[in-house]
Amino acid sequence: MTADKPDDEAFMRRALALAEAGAQTEGASPIGCVVVLDGVVVGEGHNEVGLRHDPSAHAEIVAIRRACQGLGRDELRGATLYSTLQPCGMCSMACIWTSIGRIVYGARRQDVHRMYFEDRHLDVLDIIDDAFRNDMSALGGVLAGECAALCYGPDDAPPLEAQANV
Ligand SMILES: [Zn+2]
Repeated sequence: MTADKPDDEAFMRRALALAEAGAQTEGASPIGCVVVLDGVVVGEGHNEVGLRHDPSAHAEIVAIRRACQGLGRDELRGATLYSTLQPCGMCSMACIWTSIGRIVYGARRQDVHRMYFEDRHLDVLDIIDDAFRNDMSALGGVLAGECAALCYGPDDAPPLEAQANV
């Protein structure tokens, strides 16, 4: 799928660069995220779970925390979150609680191994669709191939210790 706003690919490229930095960092993982408000990146990061010994330090949470702390705000209404991988349930919920308006992601569930998600069937799109908020949207598949190439594929056999969801 191609981007539906002119800057989507450019911001996804930034998220991809962060993911690649994560791949080079011990204790990090190759998933990157940027939060954009009024056309400006206000927070960004890659997965830092092993680096921080913090299971909640997914790329999206890292970027949201930096954005909120940098702006001194508790919500990011109107912001767009770009993630190289479809956000998990925790990060999708964080977007709702942060009032983020738009989620754009690269690799989709079907592009990667199930280790990146927590539920056999529930999909982030169902969470977004079912939210009380009606000012939210999600778009997947932007630069999907490049984003998925950094992750374990659907038919890969990642080591069990790498699979935090089992
Ligand atoms: Zn997550």
